[in-house]
Formats: sequence, structure tokens, C-alpha cells
Amino acid sequence: MGLEEYKGVYVFAQQVDNELSGIAFELLGKAKELAKDLNTDVTAMLLGSDVKGLVDQLAEYGADKVIVVDDPELKNYRTEPYAHAVASIINEYKPEIVLVGATAIGRDLGPRVSARVATGLTADCTVLEIGDFPINPIPGKEQKHNQLLMTRPAFGGNTIATIACPDNRPQMATVRPGVMQKIDPIAGAKAEVIEYNPGFTPNNKYVEILDIVKEVSDTVDIMEAKILVSGGRGVGSAENFKMLQDLADVIGGTVSCSRAVVDNGWMPKELQVGQTGKTVRPNVYFAIGISGAIQHTAGMEESDIIIAINKDETAPIFDVADYGIVGDLNKIVPKLTEALKAV
Ligand code: FAD
Repeated sequence: MGLEEYKGVYVFAQQVDNELSGIAFELLGKAKELAKDLNTDVTAMLLGSDVKGLVDQLAEYGADKVIVVDDPELKNYRTEPYAHAVASIINEYKPEIVLVGATAIGRDLGPRVSARVATGLTADCTVLEIGDFPINPIPGKEQKHNQLLMTRPAFGGNTIATIACPDNRPQMATVRPGVMQKIDPIAGAKAEVIEYNPGFTPNNKYVEILDIVKEVSDTVDIMEAKILVSGGRGVGSAENFKMLQDLADVIGGTVSCSRAVVDNGWMPKELQVGQTGKTVRPNVYFAIGISGAIQHTAGMEESDIIIAINKDETAPIFDVADYGIVGDLNKIVPKLTEALKAV
């Protein structure tokens, strides 16, 4: 079968407890763009038990077709049955592109599937587009058109690599949560539904889940927050973060931080923004006492408005900031809090 016979952009529609994860909508948004460039359609792969009720939501967020594998084996995520089901779908329907979220589930699933269908996988992508490969013509080497160009940070974020998979299909990528944009839902949109049975064999020695312990946390997910008050090493201590919390309280924000803060044990890892933390896209991002290392800015530069406070006017954070205040944060932050309280 020739590569050109592989058609369509497929998205793994991650759900947990029969609720679609945000990444499913983000991937559909990006898939819609790619499908437009390739003049093809978008298919969501929905796996779980009693999940058919989620089909309309996938349609509203851009799926033209939904392949549903509804089976008690798939109630909770487990590597073997999920990898088996997704690989079976790929072998049956031959998609050109398969996108999976770079979530804990997707990072486990993606490589297992790509190995089963004997194709490559580019992990943790932050940019996906259709283009020529090699990007610049190389004498004596054929330049292939309409390839999926998959871009991701490499070598600890010191370089950005664009990778393609010109000789195999499907082209597979896992995609960082929080980077791609979902479309505005189209109320009442409908998708073609295909019920698919990948044929689970009862003899398979699947992992047995004995108990699920849910982490109870009283902190807001920083990826959902509209306003983030983020602190760096310059804040000086865990106690000083109270100053940032006071500012956040006045403006309805959430505190987050740089990796240096997590490494110092001042704040928990779940609040870390950046390449090895979370990618955020709030309406307003305060960067307070943060220098603006590339590994940090990679996780926040898409914020709508960035306000930096730093005593060093040459700090790289000012290169990505919309507003900058040069000075001592210990003086500026309390004054700002008082001024905003008075508004
Ligand atoms: P610093 O770079 O030390 O900056 C502190 C800033 O505070 C300085 O600019 C200083 O001028 C300012 N300051 C000090 N005192 C005051 C004051 N009183 N008033 C005002 N300003 C003041 N980093 C992340 O954040 N997220 C990641 O996900 C991440 N992943 C990484 C992955 C890899 C593979 C590697 C190698 C590094 C990663 N890093 C990450 C670390 C990153 O390179 C930086 O070391 C880190 O972001 C620095 O944190 P910072 O800006 O808080 O501290």
C-alpha cells in the first residue's frame, strides 16, 4: 500500500471517568487546521466504557467522524487494551496523521502504538504544520510535499527541532497540553459515528487495576487560571510568596512559579511553569523575580498580557513582556496590591 493511500487526521480523544480531557479539544482544533491544508477530514478515536454520550461534544469541537470503541475492558486507562484498540483502528482505517496528547496517558500510549504500527513518533510537540521536507531543498535529495512538520524543544530546550516522518505512515505526534487552541464549539454539529470492535482476546494478561486513589488538592490548576501571579528565585523565600498570594487574592489570580522555586522547595511542582512544568496561556501573567530563561518562557510566552517585575533591566523576561517594571519586587508588589485594592 502506497503512502498516498493513508488519509485523514486522527485524534486520540482522551477521556477520564467519562469526561473528555481538555487536550482532546485542543488536538481537534489543531487537527481541523491540518485537515484543511490536506483537504481531508478529522476523526476522533473515542475509547472507554459507556462513552457514546461524548460523541456530540467531539463533533461540536471539530470531529467529522468519531470511531467509538466501547468496551468494559476500556473503563480505566490501561496500556495493553488501549494500545491494542488504537493500533487496530490505525491498521484498519490507515490515517495519514495521528495526534495524541502528551499527557501521562498519551506519553504511555503513543510509543506503544507507534511501535505496533511500525512508524515513528515525535514526542511533546509544540508546533505542528503542513509543509515541505526537507524544509530547504538539498541538491540530490527529493523534497516531499504536504508532510507533517513536527516541532519540539530538544537538548534541554537549548534548540528547537523540526522533525518529519517522510517514509512512513501514519505520521504520529504527541502534543503538549495547553499549546494548541480549541475552536469555538459549533452547537448542534454532528459527526458520523463508526462503532469499532478491535476484538479483545480474553487470554491477554492485562494489568489488573485493584484500586484508584485520587489526589485531593486544594490548589487551582494553573493551566485553567485566567490570571497567574508567578514568582521566581528573586522572591527570596517560601515566606515571601505570601506577598504574591496577597496580590493574587486582590485580582482573583493564582500563584505559580519558576523551576528555581520548586528546586528550592518553596512551592510544589504542580505550580511550575515551563518546559518541564506546565504550559499556561492566561489572560494576564505576572513574572515577578523571574529572569526569563528559555525553559521558562517556553511555558508562558503565549499569555495574552505579560507583566514583568525585575530589578535587572537587562533580564530576558523583558523581551517577552508587554509591560515591565524595573525595581525591587519587595517594594513594588505590596504597593501594587494596595493600589489594586483601592480600585
Ligand atoms: P533566576 O534565573 O535566578 O532569576 C531570578 C531573577 O530575579 C533575576 O532576573 C533577578 O534579577 C531577579 N531578582 C532578584 N532579586 C530581585 C528583587 N528583589 N526584585 C526584583 N527582581 C529580583 N525553568 C522554569 O522556570 N521552568 C521549567 O520548566 C524549566 N525547565 C528546565 C528544563 C531543563 C532541561 C533545564 C536545563 C532548565 C529548566 N529550567 C526551567 C530552569 C531555567 O533554565 C532557569 O534556571 C530558571 O527558570 C530560573 O528561574 P528564575 O528565573 O526564578 O531564577
